[in-house]
Order: sequence, then structure tokens, then C-alpha cells
Amino acid sequence: MPLPSVRPATLIPANSMASRSASTPADLSFAQLLRAHGLRATAQRRAIYSVFADAASADAANAHLSAEEAFQQARVQLPELSRATVYNALGELAEAGLLGLVEGPGPRRFDANVTPHHHFRCRCCHELHDVELGNVDVTLRERGFHVESSHVLLEGLCARCAGDAPAELP
Ligand SMILES: [Zn+2]
Ligand SMILES: [Zn+2]
Repeated sequence: MPLPSVRPATLIPANSMASRSASTPADLSFAQLLRAHGLRATAQRRAIYSVFADAASADAANAHLSAEEAFQQARVQLPELSRATVYNALGELAEAGLLGLVEGPGPRRFDANVTPHHHFRCRCCHELHDVELGNVDVTLRERGFHVESSHVLLEGLCARCAGDAPAELP
């Protein structure tokens, strides 16, 4: 019976931590994530970011909050938070690329989903829903346009407001 070949120890990389560099941000602790973006993990930032993490875990395609909404929810965890602190921290998290930004109509929203995507806005309840439109800028590029950023906003009624939401399962 052949024995498994034993590789010489010298083939093992001297710095075994190097193999961890492929981990995604989701694998890192919140403190590491913030540090990687040049920010200290303060209790305030942690409370504000967790509001978005909670919204994303409840409905990943619908985690968009205005600064005021984020303030009201973060204050539940950390009652001493001031509005100014929350507004500043939201700006810092967005600048660091940890939150996305969606400009109006309506108040500017912060987005837990930081991968490129588009939105559907319900004109009745004003909720934003993430939409994937894969080839919208590719089509323009093929026609010779230099696309520098893209955000498509579709508007109408969400299923709930249109009154045709799927029936709840018994
Ligand atoms: Zn709606
Ligand atoms: Zn979004």
C-alpha cells in the first residue's frame, strides 16, 4: 500500500498568514473591517453599522436607510448617540466604502449593499429595492461611450402597494 508522499517542510510558506489574505470582508471582524478602511472601531460606528447589518439580514435587497432612520434605530442600542455623531459617522462609513449612497428623490439613503447595482423605488411607500441590470453600461460602452458611473432608478409600485402581493402560505 503506497504511503502518502511527505512534502519537505521547506515548501510550507514561511508566513502562513499569507493564505488568509483571500478572505472576504465578511470573514473579518467589524474592528478589522474598519481598520482596513482606516477607521477606528468606536462604539458609535459599531452601533450605526449594525443597524445596516440587521436591515440586510432581514431583507438583503431592501437595506436602505436615510440618516434620520439610521439615527432613530442606532439610538435604541446606544441612547447617548447624538444626531450629529450619527450623521458624521454615516459620512465616514460611506467615504470608506462600507456603505453605499443613493441620492433622491426624497432624502439621501445609505445602502448596506456596496456592490454595483440599480434600484426600484416604490412611489407609494418610497422603499428602495435593489435591481440587477447587468448589461446597461456594457451596451453603451459598445457604442463608444465612456461610462464613468451608472445608477438606474426604476419607479412604480411595489408588489405590496400594487395590492398583488403573493398570498401568505398557510
Ligand atoms: Zn410600496
Ligand atoms: Zn441598494
